[in-house]
Amino acid sequence: MSEKDDFFENMKKIGVSLTFDDVRLKTGYSKVMPDDVSIESKFSRNIPLKIPIVSAAMSTVTEHKMAIGMAMLGGLGIIHRNMSIDEQVSEVERVKFYLNGLIEKPICVKENDGIESIINMKNKKGYSFSTFPVLDNNKRIVGLITGNDIDFCDNYKLKAKDIMTKENDLIKADPGTSIEDAYRIMKENKKKVLPLTDNNNVLVGLYLFSDVKRIASGESSRYNIDDKGQLIVGAAVGTGKDSLDRVVELVKKNVDVVVIDTAHGDSKPVYDILKKIKNRFPDLDVVVGNISEPESAERLAKAGADGIKVGQGPGSICTTRIVAGIGCPQVTAVYNCSKIADEYNIPVCADGGIKYSGDITIAIGVGAHSVMLGNLLAGTDEAPGEIVFEGGVKRKEYMGEGSLAAMKKYKGSRERYRVKQKIIPEGVKGLVPYKGPLERVIFYLIGGLRSGMGYVGAASIEELREKADFRRITSQGMLESHPRIKITGDTPNY
Ligand code: IMP
Repeated sequence: MSEKDDFFENMKKIGVSLTFDDVRLKTGYSKVMPDDVSIESKFSRNIPLKIPIVSAAMSTVTEHKMAIGMAMLGGLGIIHRNMSIDEQVSEVERVKFYLNGLIEKPICVKENDGIESIINMKNKKGYSFSTFPVLDNNKRIVGLITGNDIDFCDNYKLKAKDIMTKENDLIKADPGTSIEDAYRIMKENKKKVLPLTDNNNVLVGLYLFSDVKRIASGESSRYNIDDKGQLIVGAAVGTGKDSLDRVVELVKKNVDVVVIDTAHGDSKPVYDILKKIKNRFPDLDVVVGNISEPESAERLAKAGADGIKVGQGPGSICTTRIVAGIGCPQVTAVYNCSKIADEYNIPVCADGGIKYSGDITIAIGVGAHSVMLGNLLAGTDEAPGEIVFEGGVKRKEYMGEGSLAAMKKYKGSRERYRVKQKIIPEGVKGLVPYKGPLERVIFYLIGGLRSGMGYVGAASIEELREKADFRRITSQGMLESHPRIKITGDTPNY
C-alpha cells in the first residue's frame, strides 16, 4: 500500500470525502526540473495526449475552433452534441481536414460542375481549403482547381473544366509515395499539389505542400495527430434513438473517439448504447461518463468502456449535488474510480471543478490520466460565442448543459439529464472573464502542472500518479495558500 492509499484509507475510515481545496500534494526530494518532465498521457486506451488536457463537450466550449486549437497544443477537444448529426459531423470534418499528411479521400469536383456550385459547396461545408482535383466520370483525374483559379474567375457560369489546370500540366506520383518523397518531388518541381494516381490515372490520394512541409520540418511535433497527420478529435454522443446513427456518421468522417456523455454514466441506457457501439465498431475507443463511485467504474470497465470520465457535481456551472443531493467530492471520486480503472488498464479523465493549474496536478496525482475543462476554457477566443461587456469588462457566456436555458434549447441537454417532460435544471448559465487566445491559457496551466511535478519529483504523468502523496489542508491552511494583499500587478495564472 502506498502512502497515498494509506491517506485515503484513513479518510474512508472516518467517512470523509475530499475535494481539491481539501488537499495539497507533499513535496519530495527531486532531481526533476519542470522543463524536463514529460506530460504525455492518454485520454482512453488508444487515444494519446501530448498534454493531459481535454476541452469539455459543451455548447459554449467545444466546436471545431476549440478542437483544432486543443489538438494543435497537444490536447484534445470533444465536440458537443447539442446539434444535428449533420452539423456535428461537419464540425468533426473541419478538424480532420484542418491539417493533413496524405489526404486519402480528397474532396473532388466533376469536370462539368459549375464554378458557382463549387463555391457554394465549399462555403456550405466550411472547408478552409480551395484546392479540388477535377475528375471525369470514371474517377480519373483530368485537372486541378486551386484558390487562384477561383479567385481570378469572373464568370461563375463557367465549368470546372474551363478554368482548371489541365492534367498534362500536373506533376503526379505513384500510390504509396512517402511524405519525404512527396516533399522532395514538390520542391524540385515547385508544385504545391501532388496527386497520387494508379495506372489508370484514377486518383488515390493527394499531398499539399503546406502539410508536407510542416511534417517534414518537424513543425507539427507538438500537435496531437493521428497516423495520417490529421488532428485527433472526439465527439460526444448520447443515449437516444439516433445515437448509433450519429456514431455511424462520425466514424465515416474518421472521428478518433466518442464520448457517451451523460450525467449518470452508470445507468441502463448508457450500457445499452455502449454495447451497440462496441458491437458495431470494436476498434473505436468509447469513453463513458460521468460517474463518481468505484462500483460504477468496475461495471463500466467490465462492459467494455475504453476510458472513464469521473465527475458528478464538481462542475462550476453544476447544481446536481444541490438539486438532487447526490455526488462525491471530486478528489475522492477520482481516487476511488482510478484505483479500479487501473486494474482494467483504462484511463480516467477527471471532469469538472478545476479552478487553477494546481488542481490539475492534484487530479493526476490522485489517479487521473487527464482532466476535462469547461470554465477555464470558456473565456478564450476559441470557445464559441461572442465577447460581451458587463460593467465595461470583457466576458464570454458559459452555460451548463443542464441549465434551464440549455435544456429549453437543446434536445441533447434534456437527454443528458434524462428529462422526459418536466425540466428540472441541474446547472446554471452565466459569464466568465474573457481570456484571449487559448494558447496563453494552456501555457500557464501546463506550466503549473510542470512546476507541481518538479516539486513532487515526478518526471512523467505515470510517476506523478505513482509518487503523489497528499496532506489534508484546513480552511485556514487554504486561506494561507492564497495571496492576501491588494493585487496590483497582472496575474496571468491566478
Ligand atoms: P468546469 O470545468 O468546472 O466548468 O466543469 C465542466 C464540466 O461540468 C463538464 O465537462 C460537464 O461534465 C459538467 N457539466 C456541464 N454542464 C453541466 C450542468 O449543467 N450541470 C452539471 N454538470 C455540468
